[in-house]
Amino acid sequence: MNVNSLIVSTAMAEALEVIGDRWSLLVLRDVFLGVRRFEQLRQKTGASRATLTRRLESFVANDILYKCLYSTTGKRFEYRLTEKGLGLFSASLLSWQWEYLWVEQIGDVLPKRLFHSSCNHDLTPVAVCQHCKCPIEISDVEWPDLSQCLDSQFQEITAKNKQRRVRSSVKSGLEDLSLVHVSSLIGDRWSLLIIIASFLGVDRYDAFQKQLCIASNILTGRLNLLVEVDVLKRFSYQENPPRNEYRLTEKGKSLFPLVMVMRQWAIDWTFKDDAVEVLTHKRCNQALVVDVQCQHCEQKPWPRDVQFQYSDS
Ligand SMILES: [Zn+2]
Ligand SMILES: [Zn+2]
Repeated sequence: MNVNSLIVSTAMAEALEVIGDRWSLLVLRDVFLGVRRFEQLRQKTGASRATLTRRLESFVANDILYKCLYSTTGKRFEYRLTEKGLGLFSASLLSWQWEYLWVEQIGDVLPKRLFHSSCNHDLTPVAVCQHCKCPIEISDVEWPDLSQCLDSQFQEITAKNKQRRVRSSVKSGLEDLSLVHVSSLIGDRWSLLIIIASFLGVDRYDAFQKQLCIASNILTGRLNLLVEVDVLKRFSYQENPPRNEYRLTEKGKSLFPLVMVMRQWAIDWTFKDDAVEVLTHKRCNQALVVDVQCQHCEQKPWPRDVQFQYSDS
């Protein structure tokens, strides 16, 4: 099995091109919360004008947001979600959930509770198999043998990655590691690739390097960060010379449903037939299609039915 092919020949790469960075995820989160205007988005996210302008342009170009005139006098626009953009709502719910469970200080930026008005209960979003409705678990997904898969797409992405300014660490700019949000982890391509490789059972340094074609300084930096934020745990398996293994913690494993929901979104909206391999859900032996539902009423949550509560009461 070749992890490169698996990751990249999946539509994940497509999704990452669109939403794969911290600012994009922050902007989207606020759009779901009902923020639509440039200045408000700038204040909420703390993004610079230039950064926000670039992200909004990219969302419009990728059909996630559309511009809508709200004042004819000053020709002012607001940004609204398209259907494709709305499709990202489930992934956002799961990322809130993950942060709620794992980020020590969520501060005032994130809601304390999600409430599902359709069933009148707190909302716990769960990623399930559309066919059998079982929650998605790593061990229930059968990954195909992709030894014959094309590597060309991966090479393309790797080349793009290399052109980007390589940050020494994702944590730069974040004073406190307890504030490393999900957007810092999955919005960083290399961290996400390492996390996905871990889902597939890769655990040794050499194997990551081989499977991901990743430069050793980048790999070391990302592995250290992922250990520091408790997504991976380091184990020594050999003393002389010293060799380590990296295994997913519970916190790391709990990123799986979110990653699978993002993958599903990418497949649904940027489908390219032969670029998407089929995964099998072992519990029902059907091709895996991932859905998100409310744990209580088992219905799909929509923005109009979900309330974000900022106090504990
Ligand atoms: Zn199933
Ligand atoms: Zn419900």
